[in-house]
Amino acid sequence: MLPPIADAHPAVLVVAGTHGNERNGPWLLEGWRRHPERLDRAGLAVHLVDGNPGALAANRRYLDRDLNRSFDPVLLADPERCERDIARARELLALHGPAGRSPCLVAIDLHSTTAAMGNCLVMYGRRPADLALAAALQRQLGLPIYLHEADPSQTGYLVERWPCGLVVEVGPVPQGVVNAAICRSTQLAVEALFSLLAAARRGQLPQPERLVVHRHLGSLDLPRHGDGSPAAVLHPLRQHRDWQPIAPGDPLFLGHDGRTHAYAPPPDRETGPVWPVFVNEAAYGEKGIALSLTRRELWPVNPDWARELVRLAAGLRGA
Ligand SMILES: [Zn+2]
Repeated sequence: MLPPIADAHPAVLVVAGTHGNERNGPWLLEGWRRHPERLDRAGLAVHLVDGNPGALAANRRYLDRDLNRSFDPVLLADPERCERDIARARELLALHGPAGRSPCLVAIDLHSTTAAMGNCLVMYGRRPADLALAAALQRQLGLPIYLHEADPSQTGYLVERWPCGLVVEVGPVPQGVVNAAICRSTQLAVEALFSLLAAARRGQLPQPERLVVHRHLGSLDLPRHGDGSPAAVLHPLRQHRDWQPIAPGDPLFLGHDGRTHAYAPPPDRETGPVWPVFVNEAAYGEKGIALSLTRRELWPVNPDWARELVRLAAGLRGA
């Protein structure tokens, strides 16, 4: 008898704890492993994987370097690079990459943030399958989308190594803290993504006419003293105001001296209103990012996007 051909088909990968101090995703995964009936997989084969177990055990974002900036193909191929997080990136690809031992075609990477981002999606480029899945989810749940593209200082994201992949980002929640409401929001997004992938597998992905995208423009650092130490903090009127436009002259930072630093658009930046995201995210201090600026854009949905996702999803394995 021939082996069942379905086994040759790849699954959907759900990764949590890619950052070891973002503990809501790992908490969900542990619960779904103990009580599989608590996760509606929409009939799909799913792999649940802790992204960075070493960092999770240490309750740190990463061990040697940010795992979610370690999936650059040049870095992965460099035999001189043996940081533990790069080794883990290689291991994840060997296990569940598109050509791995238990291959996956779609990666859903679960993150949480200390910023008031709510429940949102992060994308790192304009791959048609990603756009189709994001558009379908936005149509269903109304989630905002941060398109973090064209940022030469930030590369090597996990989901980029799978043919289709999105980050589910939920906040605000402190690092190291599990919050039931954050978990509920995360699960809602994950199950909606499963049901949309299952629909795409059946050849019928619902798409909106338009997609609202917050396109990355750049990031702002805190004002700093000559020795590099921060000279100001985020202004209290800007705290927790992610996704809300900022205008020239609006309060942005508050100095040690009590002086308010107003927002002034960088001279090389595109003019027009901008929408801050990841405002005062704790993990971005070391990256010199106090907040990122985006432009809200309305894109017509291209039918080719859904065709690409349907083509891809046809290869997914059922449960
Ligand atoms: Zn994260």
